[in-house]
Amino acid sequence: MTARVEREFDVIVIGAGAVGENVADRVVQGGLTAVIIEAELVGGECSYWACMPSKALLRPGTALHGAQTVPGAGEAVTRTLDASAVLKRRDYFTSNWQDDGQVKWLEDTGIELIRGRGRLTGPRAVEVAGRDGVSYQLAARHAVVLCTGSAPTAPPVAGLAGLGYWTTREATSARSIPRSLVVLGGGVAGAELAQAFARLGCAVTLVARGGLLGMYPKDAADLVLAGLRADGVDVRLNTGTERVSKGGGGSFTVDLADGDSVTAERLLVATGRHPALDGLGLETVGLGSTDGKVPPLRTDTTGLVAGIDEGAGTDGDGNSDGGWLYAVGDAAGRVMLTHQGKYSARATGDAIAARAKGELKGAPEPWSRFAQTANEHAVPNVVFTDPELASVGRSAEQAQKDGYRVSSVELPISVAGSSLHSEHYEGWAQLVVDEDRKVLLGATFAGPDVAELLHAATIAVVGEVPLDRLWHAVPSYPTVSEVWLRLLEEYGL
Ligand SMILES: Cc1cc2nc3c(=O)[nH]c(=O)nc-3n(C[C@H](O)[C@H](O)[C@H](O)COP(=O)(O)OP(=O)(O)OC[C@H]3O[C@@H](n4cnc5c(N)ncnc54)[C@H](O)[C@@H]3O)c2cc1C
Repeated sequence: MTARVEREFDVIVIGAGAVGENVADRVVQGGLTAVIIEAELVGGECSYWACMPSKALLRPGTALHGAQTVPGAGEAVTRTLDASAVLKRRDYFTSNWQDDGQVKWLEDTGIELIRGRGRLTGPRAVEVAGRDGVSYQLAARHAVVLCTGSAPTAPPVAGLAGLGYWTTREATSARSIPRSLVVLGGGVAGAELAQAFARLGCAVTLVARGGLLGMYPKDAADLVLAGLRADGVDVRLNTGTERVSKGGGGSFTVDLADGDSVTAERLLVATGRHPALDGLGLETVGLGSTDGKVPPLRTDTTGLVAGIDEGAGTDGDGNSDGGWLYAVGDAAGRVMLTHQGKYSARATGDAIAARAKGELKGAPEPWSRFAQTANEHAVPNVVFTDPELASVGRSAEQAQKDGYRVSSVELPISVAGSSLHSEHYEGWAQLVVDEDRKVLLGATFAGPDVAELLHAATIAVVGEVPLDRLWHAVPSYPTVSEVWLRLLEEYGL
């Protein structure tokens, strides 16, 4: 018979990815007790199968190419990437898929860990099928927080199901570099992994239904496209996939809508992700649906979930002081980025602790420490290809849709700093301006090493720094940041 243990905590966090860890940390710092439940590795997707390994696979290629494009250094580059050394370094950054370091951090922080799969069984109640064989029945005095991350979304392509293709997990944890790879998907993960594998000696074909990085300004995405093609990636854009099959030798054949077909040793499907909410018992608090599919959660600016049963503890408007169920990070389905998830986690953790102490009633003010206000329109994101693409805030189109009177300025990046950076530096930058308030709504940079330019733009967008004050933020000479000055001059300052 399964042993059964009943426990009570102030806060129960389901999922120990970066987001769950941060929620638990903040509530403990706020004086509450917390348990975190993890079905796989403490640290989650980012540490083991996403940000860290993908960037560890990309960085050596960027460093090598960086040296090759600086005369004087380029001559010293006489070899190609050492794939086994790159994989070894990737293994180091994933701690060889061991989570001891993160478990120790939980212990040091005073967060209790239960390994196993958790699910809601009713208001404030969570059951965990423990990996130790114990069935834990947990009760939360103040909050249950869903930090269960996201899962890959498979496209409805004939023949794909059950074919043994790679998701980003298998790609980022590959033990060797395949001879050839077809990547389905022209989003961030598809573009990054296509380049990483191409630079490691793999023949890569990337197939995208639409454009490459279609969510970014075309001039910026085109620079990344040129970078991928320069690395030998065969990029097929605006091309549907009709069917996928596996041949006798285990190779994959992808039949394209244009009549062509591509065969490769491996197939990577990187066509997006959705919140991982299946099997979480949401129906026990009124959030399931009759067809068995879990609809996206609606959350307020503290991460509090709206629409749960009246009897389950909220007034249903998501702003109730009686609320107890929160969703944060990828699970909340709004912004799927580690840094933004951790930001949201800090706000949620602090809001839970403040509500428990009666210090926060109702919804917090925008930009207070309890509100995830930046998620609305000030999210920074970087595509870590070479060249990089870095963007924050609204695009010009989004700003117009949101009702702003918008203007934008665009320029190729061509300043003393960029010409010193490397031979034939090619970059592009854009500022999106709110014409009524004369503040930045968004910014995009594309080019080698532009990721480090982004935080200045994030500060300007979040701080709503007036352009005539931004004029006094003088970029150092000679840096790539001088493009800021050129952009403001182009705007008319
Ligand atoms: C290839 C790739 C590259 C990426 N690169 C970047 C990047 O460079 N920068 C960036 O900001 N973002 C990046 N992301 C996005 C980033 O990985 C996610 O936004 C981030 O991991 C979300 O953190 P999370 O804690 O919400 O979820 P996760 O990291 O997915 O953690 C969720 C955890 O919950 C656990 N869990 C789920 N259900 C249960 C359950 N019922 N019971 C117990 N445990 C459960 C899971 O095992 C997991 O450990 C990348 C994503 C991918 C796929």
